[in-house]
Amino acid sequence: MSMAGDYVGRFAPSPSGPLHAGSLVAALASFLDARVHGGRWLLRIEDIDETRTVPGAAEDIANALAALDMHSDGPVLVQSQRKHRYQAARDKLGALAYPCGCSRKEIADSRVGTASDGAAIYPGTCRGGLAPGKTARTLRLRVPDAGAEGELVRFDDRWLGPQSQHLAAEAGDFVLQRADGFWAYQLAVVVDDAEQGVTDIVRGADLLDSTARQIYLQRQLGYPTPRYLHLPLLTNATGEKFSKQNGAQALDLARPLDELQRAAGFLGLDTRAAQDRQAFWTLALAGWDTRFGPRR
Ligand code: GLU
Repeated sequence: MSMAGDYVGRFAPSPSGPLHAGSLVAALASFLDARVHGGRWLLRIEDIDETRTVPGAAEDIANALAALDMHSDGPVLVQSQRKHRYQAARDKLGALAYPCGCSRKEIADSRVGTASDGAAIYPGTCRGGLAPGKTARTLRLRVPDAGAEGELVRFDDRWLGPQSQHLAAEAGDFVLQRADGFWAYQLAVVVDDAEQGVTDIVRGADLLDSTARQIYLQRQLGYPTPRYLHLPLLTNATGEKFSKQNGAQALDLARPLDELQRAAGFLGLDTRAAQDRQAFWTLALAGWDTRFGPRR
């Protein structure tokens, strides 16, 4: 465990819509974890996929967090302004990253397998260079062959316990730069977490599957690996992840205490006795400290 004070946490929403009940759970848990460790909590706007950015959403999210008493302890990083940093990381990867000319259909047709996130596993067609007549579409990162050193990535999740992933069988050579030219989330998140000095990542379990790829990338780039805590996902009435894509409603910021109490309740923190926000924070921090504080 880190000593109080050297902890850096973060909340990294994509501005594809306003803060909603699902993203509030991640914001609140990451904030509580930073506070009980005496650390800093940083907001980062993950707008690297500019095709999904909704104008005004980043400001809406920051305003909603402020209305709920959560303020970034440092400058807010905005991914769309940091493309030179992702390019520099790509350069550092050298020949480990290679151009790939395959279309999605070609990869799906190769039927090598399906990654745990549902995507088709890349068969490695362009590993040795582009076939004649093919042009580069994406940039991929080479992962070790099955059984080779570093291919099995293990980490201890602070909520879920020991985790492992075989990169070759469960992820495959993954995309660093997309066919439309945008840098991929996996690269941007790793570069930004390292540059912001993030020591602890607290986020939804929908990203659990990405963690091994991110740890592998950290190792190739010479970055330290943070600790991870993946939160259970808030689902809607039909069991789907509660998200902007399935029409999750924006929060009712006229009732901040209600919203905070609902998110805390989902995390198993009983704050119902709180009559105001100050009392809410006292109870929520004490509850989180009991489960995940520095003495745990
Ligand atoms: N931007 C991602 C999202 O909104 C979160 C990334 C992360 O926490 O690593 O789902």
